[in-house]
Amino acid sequence: MLSSAKEYYEGVFQLLKKHHAWFRCVIPLIASENVPSPAVREAIITDFGNRYAEGWPGRRVYAGCTYIDQVELLCIELAKKLFNAEFVDVRPISGVVANLAVYTAFAEPGDYMLALSIPSGGHISMGKKKLGGTAGAVHGLNVEYLALNHQELNVDVDETIRIVEELVKTGKTPKLVMFGGSVLPFPHPVKEMEGYFHNLGATVVYDAAHVAGLIAGGTFQDPLREGADVVTLSTHKTLPGPQHGMILSLEKHAERIKRATFPGVVSNHHLQNVAGVAVALAEMLEFGRKYAKQVIRNAKALGQALYERGFKVLAEHKGFTESHVLLIDITEYGDGGKIEKELEKANIIINRNLLPWDIREGRHYMNPGGIRLGTSETTRLGMKEKQMEEIAEFIKRVIVDKESTEKVKEDVVEFRKNFQKVHFCFEKLRDAYEYIEIK
Ligand SMILES: *Cc1c(COP(=O)(O)O)cnc(C)c1O
Repeated sequence: MLSSAKEYYEGVFQLLKKHHAWFRCVIPLIASENVPSPAVREAIITDFGNRYAEGWPGRRVYAGCTYIDQVELLCIELAKKLFNAEFVDVRPISGVVANLAVYTAFAEPGDYMLALSIPSGGHISMGKKKLGGTAGAVHGLNVEYLALNHQELNVDVDETIRIVEELVKTGKTPKLVMFGGSVLPFPHPVKEMEGYFHNLGATVVYDAAHVAGLIAGGTFQDPLREGADVVTLSTHKTLPGPQHGMILSLEKHAERIKRATFPGVVSNHHLQNVAGVAVALAEMLEFGRKYAKQVIRNAKALGQALYERGFKVLAEHKGFTESHVLLIDITEYGDGGKIEKELEKANIIINRNLLPWDIREGRHYMNPGGIRLGTSETTRLGMKEKQMEEIAEFIKRVIVDKESTEKVKEDVVEFRKNFQKVHFCFEKLRDAYEYIEIK
């Protein structure tokens, strides 16, 4: 317990500064995270963050939106260009909120929805009620699972059709299908399956939270061209913007989505982040292709380098990944929770992850059999294939050689010294993790 208001006040800033100082020296490998450019950081500390703009640009129910409207329209225009989308709603404040808006727009409580289970790479926002997932617990949907082929780390088309046929027979025809997920190393079979689902009368949704930056960079599948009706996304995973969400769709769905977003799931929509997203999208329009290509090259290189050092990187027969993400079976060395903590001591930041067969084998999400690594943030810092080798070696020294984490950390700090700027952006006056004082 601290004793005075001033101590609490100072305490917060001390901790923020420590975090920034620490992140200058770590290897950030969390697949759902990224580092925004200094320009994005500037946009998100503006007065936009103190305003309301309920409604649609030009038809707000608040005054003071003159410039806010213009920025939101720029953001929409940029997103339409980048994703080649007919309609864009940039108001959802996160990926979960974007999904909830889509559930609201296209399904009623009690309807059936298909998605990947969480151990298979699905996200908790697609989860069943008994797991507290958004789809089940908040919107009252009955969630059934798409089948995953464990070898291929991808949706099993034939097995999924078999499951759906059974559902249809018992009157549980799905209204919604969610492709995409939080472990998405290979393009999902949207093109192969959209016709089947559309024939059943279902809306086909693709959750691009993880891969939005790769789609924008033209290096991953393009769900809207492959027959998806709607795409939801987070703006801060492979897409290097501030934390926010977005929905893309065909024009014919525009009104339902608009209404589901507001008044459905947002009131204020974090206008500072809409501005930040617009800046990030402009940077992607200029640098996105190069960035996305390098992210994938780095992921493949990191997968190969870890594999050569004895790690069980999944989907080796397919080159480990076609995206930014790698999944590693770590059971030989402990559980994902323990490994995550060990690596953190050496300034290597990764996260534990369930393997598709973990629940069946009695493992739990706190102590799963896997770890998940992503290469977007390190790529933004200017790292390439050679650095991926070095990172793999650091990881091996901690986990396989069981070298002192203190010693490895010293080397990691040294290694990081050369990677302090954000790349793939127009201006780099500030370092990536520089603490900016304005008070
Ligand atoms: C991260 C993620 C989300 C949620 O994103 P937030 O922006 O954190 O709300 C939704 N779906 C998938 C597949 C995700 O990985």
